[in-house]
Amino acid sequence: MITLCLGMVSALSQSVSQSKPESNVPAPRRIVIAAGTVLDGKGGVLHHTRIVVEGAKIVAIDPKAGPVDYDLHASTVMPGWIDAHVHITWSFGADGKNAGPAGTTQEAAYASASNAWLTLMAGFTTVQSVGSPTDVPLRDAIARGALPGPRILTAVETIMGRGEKTGTPDEIRAFVRKQKDAGADLIKIYASGGMTRGPMTLSQEQLNAACDEARKQGLRSLVHAYRDAVRAATLAGCTEIEHGLGASDDDLKLMADHGTYLDPQAGLLLETYLQNKERYLAAPYYTEEGFAAMKDLIPAHQEFLRRAAHIPGLKIVYGTDAVAGAHGRNAEDFIHRVHDCGIDPMAALVSANSLGAQALGMADQIGSIAPGLQADIIALAGDPLHDITAVRRVVFVMKSGTVYKSSAP
Ligand SMILES: [Zn+2]
Repeated sequence: MITLCLGMVSALSQSVSQSKPESNVPAPRRIVIAAGTVLDGKGGVLHHTRIVVEGAKIVAIDPKAGPVDYDLHASTVMPGWIDAHVHITWSFGADGKNAGPAGTTQEAAYASASNAWLTLMAGFTTVQSVGSPTDVPLRDAIARGALPGPRILTAVETIMGRGEKTGTPDEIRAFVRKQKDAGADLIKIYASGGMTRGPMTLSQEQLNAACDEARKQGLRSLVHAYRDAVRAATLAGCTEIEHGLGASDDDLKLMADHGTYLDPQAGLLLETYLQNKERYLAAPYYTEEGFAAMKDLIPAHQEFLRRAAHIPGLKIVYGTDAVAGAHGRNAEDFIHRVHDCGIDPMAALVSANSLGAQALGMADQIGSIAPGLQADIIALAGDPLHDITAVRRVVFVMKSGTVYKSSAP
């Protein structure tokens, strides 16, 4: 067998060198995917076509391409999803309790790697982690191909608003530059407290400094904001508002006018807390009182998303806020968006494809099925436009041309 294999390799290298005598670089591997239905990530639908991948990229959409390597004619094919808001390193510790982001133990490192694998297997090929310094080695290991996981963008350390104690505008600007030096892909800013009450935790002046410095450093700014902080962050020129509960229609219209993205949650986060209550209960953030209020907060978030979806021109991305217990279940918010918020299934999917890519400033790389883009391609058993629960049935995952899952019938 060994002789035969070596013989085949040498025969192959001969034919390569004969056809291309000037180059020793082998041609990138070509993969042809046959698809019955393709959602292109921008709202378009293609039928009975083939996607040609070479190396990490899509090179053609050609119904005549062959030979076929993966036959996905019975599935719905689309670009890999983008989750704009996760906490990829948050996990439950060895004692079963929420360890949050603090862990640097070996268990925490393995848990982070597991979160990344579960997220990728669920069809998410890019996530934005907002953020933790422990994101950085995970991001880099995945980017090197040393671990399976989604492409990770991270905020590294966040700007936690604490009123005047947060620092002067100049100190905040210095903190933004420090994150850039530490490898941040974006800046995350906490500008308000709890979901239902509490004042802004940064002044307008502080917010202006944070978002302006991020822009000057070529980074996007994501602001955790409720109520009046939504308007303040929009006026500060931030890229995206996280959560947003309590914003008025006028605030949302202002966001649409400014081109500010909204990243609301539709149920997965609070459900995860409720399902894992005993593991989360701990002062000061996770209290009995807080858990008692959560049930009512699920419909409040859904009403908010329903209202936001009716604001003309408002760009709503897909972000789950996945914490411990939610990794790998990121697609659940699609189901909430469609079933509980009245969102059109195609719009829900596009929010995690081309629109999500646009919000990351990566629309020329990911989020669509088109020649020249990264070959981030997934397939679902079933048709999510008619039954959104198909998002739970991911049967194929390719990221940058590498197949990580292939279980289509
Ligand atoms: Zn979060």
